Amino acid sequence: KSGFVAIVGRPNVGKSTLMNQAIGQKIAIMSDKPQTTRNKIHGVYTTDDTQIVFLDTPGIHKPNSKLGNYMVKAAEGALNEVDAILFLTDVTEPIGGGDRYIMEQLKKVTDTPVFLVLNKIDKIHPEAMLPVIEKFRKQMDFTEIVPVSALQGNNVNALLEQVSKYL
Ligand code: GDP
Ligand code: MG
Repeated sequence: KSGFVAIVGRPNVGKSTLMNQAIGQKIAIMSDKPQTTRNKIHGVYTTDDTQIVFLDTPGIHKPNSKLGNYMVKAAEGALNEVDAILFLTDVTEPIGGGDRYIMEQLKKVTDTPVFLVLNKIDKIHPEAMLPVIEKFRKQMDFTEIVPVSALQGNNVNALLEQVSKYL
C-alpha cells in the first residue's frame, strides 16, 4: 500500500513533530515560527508493506497577503489529491478561530477521509479529552478521531495503522 497524507493544523499544534515522529527523521524544520515550512515538505514513512508520503501543509490559514492567498490555493489543491488528511489540534487549548477556519476549508474537501488528531495528550488527564472530542464532533464529521502525543510517540503507530486502511 502507498499513498499521500496531508497534515494540516494551525501553527504550533505539532505538525512537524508528528511527521518527524512518524518517519523517525528530522526532515521538517522544527520551529515556533508559523511559516517556516513555507514549501510543502515531504517526509516518507516506509515499512515492509506500507509507504506514506507526508505533506506538511502550512498554507491553511486565513490569507493576509497575496502570498498567503497563493498558499491557500496551493493547499486546497493538495487536499483534494491526497488519500487522507490529518487535522491536527492541540488538545490542551480551546477550539479557536484558527481551528474553525481550517474546519471550514476541510468541509469543502470531498471524498478525502479527514482524521481528527488530538495532539499533546501527554499534557492532560485522559478524562479531560472527552469534552474536547464532543466539541469537535459538533463542528464537523470526522472519519476517525485519534489522540496522540507526537512528542512522546504515544499512539502514533496506531494512527499510522488507521491511516494505512485508507491508502
Ligand atoms: P507545527 O507548527 O504545527 O509544525 O508545530 P511543531 O511540531 O513545531 O511543535 C510546536 C511545539 O509544540 C514544539 O515546541 C513541540 O515540541 C511541541 N509539541 C509538539 N507535539 C507535542 C506533544 O505531543 N506534546 C507536547 N508536550 N509538546 C508537543
Ligand atoms: Mg511545522
